[in-house]
Amino acid sequence: MKTAEDKLGLFIERCKKEGLKITPQRVAVYEILLRSENHPTVEEIYEEVKKKYPFVSLATVYRTVETLEQMGLAKKVCYWGSSARYDANTDDHHHLICVSCGAIRDIYMEDQISIPEELEGFRTEGYSVNIYGLCPECRGKTQPTA
Ligand SMILES: [Zn+2]
Ligand SMILES: [Zn+2]
Repeated sequence: MKTAEDKLGLFIERCKKEGLKITPQRVAVYEILLRSENHPTVEEIYEEVKKKYPFVSLATVYRTVETLEQMGLAKKVCYWGSSARYDANTDDHHHLICVSCGAIRDIYMEDQISIPEELEGFRTEGYSVNIYGLCPECRGKTQPTA
């Protein structure tokens, strides 16, 4: 698997090739996404980038995340509430989602579902499984009634 540094280098290369300006703010957006374990929203990434670059705009962060998505370096996980959550882990993996606090963790499962290349007229590209439940922290807070 590639390290965060490898992936950042790749992103910079891609930007150069596509004639996109490489700003430290843009690199920071990807870096935060790469190092985050909880699939942040654009707003959460923005709050982090702001700590280092106080003059960054939310629009810049949005655009950078969009660029990353177009480059296939990031993807939307799912909608939780009204905000999309993003993932820089583009390997095939699945998610454990806490229904109480919204934590999203990556999981890898050994069982593979075999998906035909074509399904109902769709050319398939991949799949991901969302498993909902209560995370250990939230389980600790609730007393089961049963
Ligand atoms: Zn939770
Ligand atoms: Zn993930």
